[in-house]
Order: sequence, then structure tokens, then C-alpha cells
Amino acid sequence: MTLGQKQRKFTEMIGRLIAWAYANGYELTFGDAYRDPRVHGQVGQKSSYSAASSLHKERLAVDFNLFRDGRYLTRTEDHQPLGEFWESIGGTWGGRFKDGNHYSLEHGGRK
Ligand SMILES: [Zn+2]
Repeated sequence: MTLGQKQRKFTEMIGRLIAWAYANGYELTFGDAYRDPRVHGQVGQKSSYSAASSLHKERLAVDFNLFRDGRYLTRTEDHQPLGEFWESIGGTWGGRFKDGNHYSLEHGGRK
């Protein structure tokens, strides 16, 4: 699968995650999605708050802000139902490495 094919698959998967979240009583806003390498550095290069090898630079990660009943939920545990759904459709959930709002698609061994 090319990077472009993987990016397009990831976007479709994110659509399914968003639909699942709303169907289960959650609401979301986007945190970081794409991190432009012109701002954050190329993959492997550290030039901002972003991790040097972040998948956000390759359009393969999104951070979501999670809400339920109008309340902003910030704990990794709050994201767990979404994270488990995300894993069930082939994604990697950041809650497995203390980054609970991070939803990605593994690429080149990176999450
Ligand atoms: Zn992230």
C-alpha cells in the first residue's frame, strides 16, 4: 500500500470513528490533525512541539477533543471506548502509550 493509499484509508477510518462516537453519545472537536512539515519539520526533524517522527506530519494521525453531555473529557480512560473501536477497525490508539486522544494508522513502525 502506498503512503497515499494509506492516507486515504485513514481518512475513511476517521469518518467511521466519528460516526461511531456520535452514535454512542459522544461529541468531538479536532485537535491537531495534519502538522505541516514547513512548520513542524520534515519527518525525523524536530522543529516544534511535535515529535520528530510524528505521523501527524504524514496525515496519518488525528488528536480529538472528546465531549459528553457538554463536558470536556480529558483523561485517557475517557477515550478508551473510542480507542477500542478504533483498534477494532485496524487503527492504533494512543491510549496504549499515554496519549489517549491520539488516533493513528501505523506506518513504518511508527504510531
Ligand atoms: Zn497526536
